[in-house]
Amino acid sequence: MSEDCLFCKIVGGQIPADLVYEDERILAFRDISPQAPLHVLIVPRKHVATLNDADEQDRELLGHILLTAKGIAAENGVQGGYRVVNNCGEPAGQSVFHIHFHLLGGRPMGWPPG
Ligand code: AMP
Repeated sequence: MSEDCLFCKIVGGQIPADLVYEDERILAFRDISPQAPLHVLIVPRKHVATLNDADEQDRELLGHILLTAKGIAAENGVQGGYRVVNNCGEPAGQSVFHIHFHLLGGRPMGWPPG
């Protein structure tokens, strides 16, 4: 838990979120500013600021997040095509420094990203 962290506050229940999944390790909730019909953020309960701050101990946790993304996509009927994104660091667009994975689906998406 990091005191000033927005997603720690969501994990702790101090700030409300539209939860779609939770277990003992992770939480998934709808993005407040959705960029696709399905836009969910998947975060670990424990505070890790960025992917660069994750280590060997987080290997299983990171795999769990990706497999959960697959499950949420399937439950929402977008298993044929979706995107999972992690913005690592400010130059890549990270604005909340509690590691999270965007699950985006329900519309066609271009590549490369802008
Ligand atoms: P990033 O720019 O990769 O760090 O992504 C942060 C995401 O958090 C953005 O897509 C925001 O729209 C989203 N966001 C910010 N505040 C909230 C909130 N209170 N509940 C849900 N999503 C949020």
